[in-house]
Amino acid sequence: MLGQMQHHPLLISSIIRYAARHHGAAEVVSKLADGALHRTSYAQVEIRARHLAAALQGLGVQLGHRVATLAMNSFRHLECYYGISGMGAVCHTINPRLALDDIAYIINHAEDGVLFADPFFATIVAGVAPQVGASLRHVVIMASAAEMPALALPAGITLHCYETLLAAATPIATWPDFPETTASSLCYTSGTTGRPKGVLYSHRSTLLHSLAGNAADSLALRAVDRVLPGVPMFHANAWSLPYSAPMAGAALILPGRHLDAPSLVALANAERATMSAGVPTIWLGVLQHLRETGQRLHTLGRIMSGGSAVPRALMQSYEELGIPIIQAWGMTESSPIATMNAATPATLALEAEAALDIRATQGRTVFGMDVRAIREDGSEAPWDAATPGNIQFQGHWVANGYFRQPETQVGDQGWFPTGDVGTFDANGFVRLTDRTKDLIKSGGEWISSIDLENIAVAHPDVAEAAAIAAAHPKWAERPLLIVVPRPGHTLTEASVLAFFADKVPKFSIPDAVVIVEELPHGATGKIQKNVLRDRYAGYLTG
Ligand code: ADP
Repeated sequence: MLGQMQHHPLLISSIIRYAARHHGAAEVVSKLADGALHRTSYAQVEIRARHLAAALQGLGVQLGHRVATLAMNSFRHLECYYGISGMGAVCHTINPRLALDDIAYIINHAEDGVLFADPFFATIVAGVAPQVGASLRHVVIMASAAEMPALALPAGITLHCYETLLAAATPIATWPDFPETTASSLCYTSGTTGRPKGVLYSHRSTLLHSLAGNAADSLALRAVDRVLPGVPMFHANAWSLPYSAPMAGAALILPGRHLDAPSLVALANAERATMSAGVPTIWLGVLQHLRETGQRLHTLGRIMSGGSAVPRALMQSYEELGIPIIQAWGMTESSPIATMNAATPATLALEAEAALDIRATQGRTVFGMDVRAIREDGSEAPWDAATPGNIQFQGHWVANGYFRQPETQVGDQGWFPTGDVGTFDANGFVRLTDRTKDLIKSGGEWISSIDLENIAVAHPDVAEAAAIAAAHPKWAERPLLIVVPRPGHTLTEASVLAFFADKVPKFSIPDAVVIVEELPHGATGKIQKNVLRDRYAGYLTG
């Protein structure tokens, strides 16, 4: 017997339709390339997204066609999110920080027919255009006619101006209906190992993920929130914020390309941001800036961070500023939210230090997902906070395989291997110790690089740290620590090593400390340990 309830497919267009009708005046503020602020509303975004949908139809885009974006966080990118997916095409967000060769590869792999690009990415477009002629027919520069850059494209690819295109289009009257399992968006992982791999989201997975993102133990967005996504819209859909905020009627403050610490602090204060999200590197930079200038974040009430482990010391510093950092863990492959750190009755009772220890874990599994750690023998690791396993997940917003890579299919009932290693504690909190490829195995013992990094950045003179495995004649591998001093502080190897003495077993203490001015960061702001391994693998063997 079927339930007698209405069935509406879970479509992305329903989010912007709702926001336009019920929170039509809620603000979308964008910091433009020249630093000026642009203000619009969800009502305006919705109507302009319908113009965009019509314009795409005019360019020949149909259901299932891939349409790419090469853009930072702005109202135009938001309109693309809704216009492209809403009309049934696939919004393929490209990470502009990838190598040109990788960008060309993924445009060809996805067979993007149209590419929307911010004007300041014109050189990237010019660089890839000669290699992507097989599928790409149109480039739309996200600017007004007056702001159009000079850009010569190969024959067969037409250049358009975003505002001219929208102005010429008669908006579609209503958003089309199609099955909720239709592909909505596409995001390639950054490809630190091999070529980037595509994750193809559906309307249903996106809608459910965005709803879950708004749960009280998750992002908990409210209509009175003003959300500043410091995570780019090309990094796993900005962790659902461009969907979750309009669902809640919360304002969006979009920083464009201005992701440096002084700009973020100024924007957050000027626009009264109440919530923000970004990788730990961003918050490290912001903290340094606050310390150097004596400024405060006046309205920010909470930060969500993930993408790499949030150091306990970083959390503590923000705690002292009255801004809790909520750690989340996930991957592009899980839309991305898999675990989120929120209290349970058991952890609420803990005293300050122990509570911070728990808050520095990756958190516990959110509804809609299941996560487990699997031991070498294939059995599930007990929830004893000690036994590590390879982490796998499944759920409503987990990929069942990579786009156009049949050999990677895990199916709907399968468990997706994450490549992360960690433990579960009795309350279900996951503590990641490493990515499989970053593991340090010394004389048969595993040493957690995340633990070592956490300790290192608690040192008063250390700004950032990476622990890697370096070759060792006796132990096969030994931990090597690479650190960046805090600006204006001097750092010695001896003081860093001494700092470890009472915190980890002796065999876990790094063999050496390399002091550098800067660590290499990848396209999503994470430390590139593979680059460090290449550079320092032989450091201990001479
Ligand atoms: P990429 O693989 O392209 O860097 P993702 O953003 O999808 O892109 O990376 C997912 C990986 O990031 C996870 O598998 C995990 O290793 C790491 N990660 C994400 N969040 C956390 C976290 N809170 N703590 C530790 N590692 C994290």
